[in-house]
Amino acid sequence: MQYQKILDTIKSETLARPITGKVATYIPELAKIDPDKFGMHLYCINSGHYGFGNESERFSIQSISKVFSLTLAMSLLDDELFERVDVEPSGDPFNSLIQLEYENGIPRNPFINAGALVIADILVSILENPQQEFLDFIHKITGNTTININQKVFDSEKKYSHRNAALLNLMKSFGNIKNDIETVLDLYIYQCSIEMSCKELATAFMIYANAGNTLSDDIEVITSRKTKRINAIMQTCGFYDEAGEFSFRVGLPGKSGVGGGIAAIHPGQYAVTVWSPPLNPKGNSELGMYALERLTTLTGFSIF
Ligand code: GLU
Repeated sequence: MQYQKILDTIKSETLARPITGKVATYIPELAKIDPDKFGMHLYCINSGHYGFGNESERFSIQSISKVFSLTLAMSLLDDELFERVDVEPSGDPFNSLIQLEYENGIPRNPFINAGALVIADILVSILENPQQEFLDFIHKITGNTTININQKVFDSEKKYSHRNAALLNLMKSFGNIKNDIETVLDLYIYQCSIEMSCKELATAFMIYANAGNTLSDDIEVITSRKTKRINAIMQTCGFYDEAGEFSFRVGLPGKSGVGGGIAAIHPGQYAVTVWSPPLNPKGNSELGMYALERLTTLTGFSIF
């Protein structure tokens, strides 16, 4: 497969498209990002790295971090984790409070904010130093110890975190948050404010393409059984209330973030990431979705 040629085609096709999306502004620090940033990186199990554009520039991973926190929690716990968070698509926006009220404080899945906050609570219960150990986990799966948070993004999100605090309070009223709300909120904001490049994210996501193992040194981060489950949740819940659309157009398990990043995988084949900050009305990178749709179309294969 001529991957670099395919990526070059995707680049020129994507850049020729008009952008109607808008950069996220509800976290003021994210609003400052240049909307024209655009990068893509493909990391193939058999043939290595391909990419273009701003593929090496770090950006705010935001909700993509929810995949890493779920992975860390699942590596420490077994099925009891899923007594506190379900695995069903929500069909609601990522920060919605509505379902929680009539579903007794059990979030629909770990990739909406409520679910990720429960996972953060679980990590606070288990880990001695949750923020540092979360960062250590990212360092382990990327082999890169320079990855860190952006303090300005952390502070900005913290200042406007009333909705996430509301989710935590509501779930605590149902007994589904065990720790101090501020501590859990801080871990969640910390994980969201981590910055990584497309290339680094593709390296991290390789574990989901490679049955739970890092590719470079073959460390088992999580079992293949659990990897299968994480990929299934990405497929059904990875794109807010647009998971069906992403499945329909792209056909890969993945996860997006409001920083404009999308990471996706083809099991046994590759991890791929794309970054373009303007978001469509559902909160997913507009050009990112298009670029990935072209990847599975031009290569002629997706998981379906
Ligand atoms: N930190 C963001 C929030 O809680 C994450 C949103 C996202 O990327 O979906 O609002």
